[in-house]
Amino acid sequence: MHNALIISLLLLLSCQPASIPEAKQYSVPASVEPYIRSFQMEAQSRNHAVSIDNLVVEFGDAQGEDVCGRCILEAGKAPRIVLNMNDYCWQQASTNEREGLIFHELGHCLLNRQHRTDRFPKGAYVSLMNPDDMGVYATCRYPIDDECDKRPRRTYYLDELVNPATPAPTWAQ
Ligand SMILES: [Zn+2]
Repeated sequence: MHNALIISLLLLLSCQPASIPEAKQYSVPASVEPYIRSFQMEAQSRNHAVSIDNLVVEFGDAQGEDVCGRCILEAGKAPRIVLNMNDYCWQQASTNEREGLIFHELGHCLLNRQHRTDRFPKGAYVSLMNPDDMGVYATCRYPIDDECDKRPRRTYYLDELVNPATPAPTWAQ
């Protein structure tokens, strides 16, 4: 009788409905795919593994706080990034500008980063997560001074994206 009770209990427990895991979705336009792979690789090289098997990226009307893109996080749905495909945001944008935009949105969507608006004493934004300029390491479109090749800054901004406690780089001091 005792054994029968235990077996009944085990059967009862094993019949509890398991929580249904959310279906993962991955849908990224081919033109965006290399940036997603690059993001994963850059994070990985900074000892921060990022899973990208649940992500939707699409072109559309972003209409958010960020002019060119938006990260939408909704319960039970894959993180979704909407990018504006207009000339300014995408068609005429350089590789580094496109990367900055996508990495910023991935910062929201996959790294749980919020906007960060503080600046270094010389004026440069501390983070790619600032809401106004995602070209923090992109060469200026209209060079007006010698400060326009910012590509060497990329390493710092990607370090900061993964680790907000990254110390200020020498060029900012
Ligand atoms: Zn943003």
